[in-house]
Amino acid sequence: MNKTLRQAVIAGNWKMNKTRPEAKALITDLIPLVKDADCGVVICVPYTNLETALELTAGTNIKVGAENCHWAKSGAFTGEISADMLAEMGVEYVVIGHSERRQYFGETDVTVNQRVRAALDAGLKVILCVGELLEQREQGITEEIVSMQTKIALGGVSAEELKRIIIAYEPVWAIGTGKTATAEQANEVNHCIRETVSKLYGQAAGDAMTIQYGGSMNAANAEELLAQPDVDGGLIGGASLKAPDFATIVKAASK
Ligand code: PEP
Repeated sequence: MNKTLRQAVIAGNWKMNKTRPEAKALITDLIPLVKDADCGVVICVPYTNLETALELTAGTNIKVGAENCHWAKSGAFTGEISADMLAEMGVEYVVIGHSERRQYFGETDVTVNQRVRAALDAGLKVILCVGELLEQREQGITEEIVSMQTKIALGGVSAEELKRIIIAYEPVWAIGTGKTATAEQANEVNHCIRETVSKLYGQAAGDAMTIQYGGSMNAANAEELLAQPDVDGGLIGGASLKAPDFATIVKAASK
């Protein structure tokens, strides 16, 4: 598999962490540490930190993302944020379908697809999360599950729009648990996702697709995971909250 056909991207997912002063300190520390990165660098931050992140990263190689968006353009959806609101601010990326949204907030494959649609319509880039539960891995249906999640999420997405999507394979049992998929497990599922994309959009589109791994990736295990032929970067939760750790992962992806 030719990794030069696609860009590796390391994206931080801060989840519900960091007040504005804390965000400012973290980003200020991070900027010099990742300035020479030879991969994409994205920080996906809580809505309340977007403006701070955009201001501090202006003119640097760090891109800013949100952690979710609603599927409607506007309306009576108390507490939600639309894709247009993010795009207007200058936000470039949005995470959609994170397992914590699926697990705690009733996100389904269908609503993931609706949110992907809205994000693309607003001109955003999407980090689309897919991944199996522990029971599903134990039943031996991991590949069916991630392939189905990928197909449903990409429903109605054109080949041109696909270029604005990154897929993050995140086994649910590995997120925030300290349990990482082995490099081989990560590569196997990433390869299956690539084949699914190739079947839908053609081999060239599959080869060009950035497919990250996420799930307890950290400064110590990143190099092995990122060396896999089908692993094109990572979506990083816990380790993205410490600038030196996140920077070490960015360095590993830049090799
Ligand atoms: C995530 O939130 O997407 C994630 C992978 O978290 P962690 O790295 O903490 O497992």
